[in-house]
Amino acid sequence: MSISSFLPPRRTLMGPGPSDVSDRVLQAMARPTLGHLDPAFIGMMNEVKTLLQYVFQTQNELTFAVSAPGSAGMECCFANLVECGDKVIVCQNGVFGGRMKENVERCGGTAVMVEDNWGDAVDPEKLEAALKAHPDAVLVAFVHAETSTGAQSDAKTLVALAHQYGCLTIVDAVTSLVGTPLLVDEWGIDAIYSGSQKCLSAPPGLSPVSFNQRAAEKIQGRQSKVQSWFLDLNLVMGYWGGEGKRAYHHTAPVNCLYGLHESLVIVQEEGLENSWARHQQNHLALHKGLQQLGIGFLVKEAHRLPQLNSVFIPSGADDAEVRTRLLNEFDLEIGAGLGALAGKVWRIGLMGHASNQKNVDFCLNALKAVL
Ligand SMILES: *Cc1c(COP(=O)(O)O)cnc(C)c1O
Repeated sequence: MSISSFLPPRRTLMGPGPSDVSDRVLQAMARPTLGHLDPAFIGMMNEVKTLLQYVFQTQNELTFAVSAPGSAGMECCFANLVECGDKVIVCQNGVFGGRMKENVERCGGTAVMVEDNWGDAVDPEKLEAALKAHPDAVLVAFVHAETSTGAQSDAKTLVALAHQYGCLTIVDAVTSLVGTPLLVDEWGIDAIYSGSQKCLSAPPGLSPVSFNQRAAEKIQGRQSKVQSWFLDLNLVMGYWGGEGKRAYHHTAPVNCLYGLHESLVIVQEEGLENSWARHQQNHLALHKGLQQLGIGFLVKEAHRLPQLNSVFIPSGADDAEVRTRLLNEFDLEIGAGLGALAGKVWRIGLMGHASNQKNVDFCLNALKAVL
């Protein structure tokens, strides 16, 4: 056998994630591996926490990165906050709301679904009707930025409604974090999870999460143990939280955390508001160029995500063939449609490091050439 080193091709990643990782982040990950209880590493972990509090715009003590991708952050929120018999209102307007339902049911809860069309934002009036009809509900869960459709929901309004009816909230911010305004404390979000590989532009494999005091109290007051040993926050916090006296829980993915740290430093240098503005500006440039190609958007203008653009596949174009040619001839990845939108839309990501004018022009020219 003579298998040699794997040398990946250089692609431009403009799909639904992972997004392009900068050389700066890749170089940070190539630095020497430390023991995960080494004081130098623990110092870096404390900085990761401070930087995550900044990007989430929160003072929450319980803020850290789950050692696994965004789906594990999702599972962490549900496994800790949902107890057997809990009724949870889940708003679904795409793929990821469906996964929330799965999580509720696997935790022994009952999911009450509030459904909106794929491509629409979650309708606050439908949520309020469900809250009125189910006064025994204890949680509301929704996706801030639906990556399957490119629609953004009004998190501030949805959280305020949930609180008005005595519910805690779980918010999926995997794609929204750093790409579009998100104010965890100001909006009162109780539990939130994200991912490293979307607008943070770090490699996949880490899931930033944050829980406020009310969520922490619900977790501490549970009648039953969290069914997942790995994701039980009561145990994880002994590792991430215990000031100066970290106990072994699991081996942190050390070099992956170097990458997350560097990506967060880059956001801090740019400034969160500037990052939001850059994502919007490049979205508008892409929109203008696509209009000239006669390509329209799935989502109404008011709810469009700047970092994830779902656009209709022009009639006559072969979905798979176009994407294959973009990859083979241009080293450019864009995303296919998911679920009901498969074969109908492409998903063009402008996330994090990949959200720049050069990529907008590159993608437009490549599409022009292939179509
Ligand atoms: C990507 C994504 C996830 C899942 O994250 P993974 O890192 O792929 O596990 C969850 N929710 C949304 C909205 C996403 O875009």
